[in-house]
Amino acid sequence: MDIIDISGKSCALVQAMLTSRRFFVSTFTINFWKATMTLLSDRLKNVKPSPTLAITAKAKALRAQGRDVIGLGSGEPDFDTPKHIKKAAIEALKEGFTKYTPVDGIPELKAAIIRKYHGECGLAYEPGQVVATVGGKQAFFNLALALVNPGDEVIIPAPYWVSYPDMTHIAEGKPVILPTQEKNGFKMTPEELEAAITPRTKLVVINSPSNPTGATYHREELEGIGQVLLRHPHVWAVTDDIYDKIVFDGLPFVNLVQAVPELQERTIILNGVSKSYSMTGWRIGFAVGPQPVIKAMTKIQSQSTSCATSFAQRGAATALSGSQKCIKPMLKAFHQRRTFVVKALNDMPGVSCLAPEGSFYAYPNIAGLIGTKADGQTIESSLDLAAYLLDHYDVAIVPGVAFGLDPYFRLSFATSMEDLEEAMTRIHRAAKRLLAGG
Ligand code: PLP
Repeated sequence: MDIIDISGKSCALVQAMLTSRRFFVSTFTINFWKATMTLLSDRLKNVKPSPTLAITAKAKALRAQGRDVIGLGSGEPDFDTPKHIKKAAIEALKEGFTKYTPVDGIPELKAAIIRKYHGECGLAYEPGQVVATVGGKQAFFNLALALVNPGDEVIIPAPYWVSYPDMTHIAEGKPVILPTQEKNGFKMTPEELEAAITPRTKLVVINSPSNPTGATYHREELEGIGQVLLRHPHVWAVTDDIYDKIVFDGLPFVNLVQAVPELQERTIILNGVSKSYSMTGWRIGFAVGPQPVIKAMTKIQSQSTSCATSFAQRGAATALSGSQKCIKPMLKAFHQRRTFVVKALNDMPGVSCLAPEGSFYAYPNIAGLIGTKADGQTIESSLDLAAYLLDHYDVAIVPGVAFGLDPYFRLSFATSMEDLEEAMTRIHRAAKRLLAGG
């Protein structure tokens, strides 16, 4: 039985915990939680703290207690930021580049973003169609607040990046979760999209390569989706390209606007330097799209963060316009680890895994472990498996329930080969034990 602090948890999560046999919640805590929930804004009632950040923090805390925990929960590359990028930021600091910048970003960074989209995707944008943000996360946040009215529907294919539904809730929109199928590579089909669109649909989210599955849309798949969107002119699209440089097996990266150029006037492209250049802590993202939307996103930023950090913007400009050679060794390592992890998962009893085409995540299917039992623990969901792996095998993974499609879990291979080998051995042993009944 676990004793946990439920302050700050959403209503739905606490109710789920109250009905679960695994949690003990005292009457005092419930009353405190009820009082807190009436104090805080209605807007927050459906919002959960990020489960991926929570699991990373839990793994770190257990390690600090001396447990040999291997964390496969984290969504950040394990490499250092390339030297030439760090040097650019250090130079900026040395020359006193430490003040507020224009809200939408320094001209040098905006020019680098424009060059990137022109050079890599053949897409033309003006400086007024570009905003630099505090990480890719703030780009989606600004967009949701800029576009979504209360009750507007936002179509989010599942499994999804954990923040899309919560940020939609903060904007008082209604997330419409569209479950994808493993047999379709976890990609939404044109027919599924068509069926999900209503007169209240405002926005469709496309994330390719995907967090958490690595699913990467091919040009013809995007053309099919684009044809549906062309038939529904009231629907906007956002394409989150943050993993655009992490694509395997020579597959070319293509986004919705490249596939269907007519959609450029109602598509916003989000991106950032966090993943491709191993710069998660720098907090630099960006968005390009139609000027009125970018202007609205910039207005929101002017009243929230003011601007992204000055010297980090210099580093990001160097990342985008400097030599791209630094990406190669990281991509090579991700590719090797992906090959290893997918084979290891498919060798496990009760587990199967599609090979991700991009990003640094795998999303194994654990249907074969549901209903098994060992060490007094029955596995009824990915949540149970995550708890079992952490409690008995010191491996931290993120349960699929956090990404809206179960029974799966997300494993990040942005960690050393040595840790991955040990983690795969432990999970294999756990799966065998569960299937043997303990
Ligand atoms: N979009 C996706 C799909 C992500 O996985 C992430 C980070 O995990 C982000 C956006 C946000 O990245 P950043 O760290 O730049 O805020």
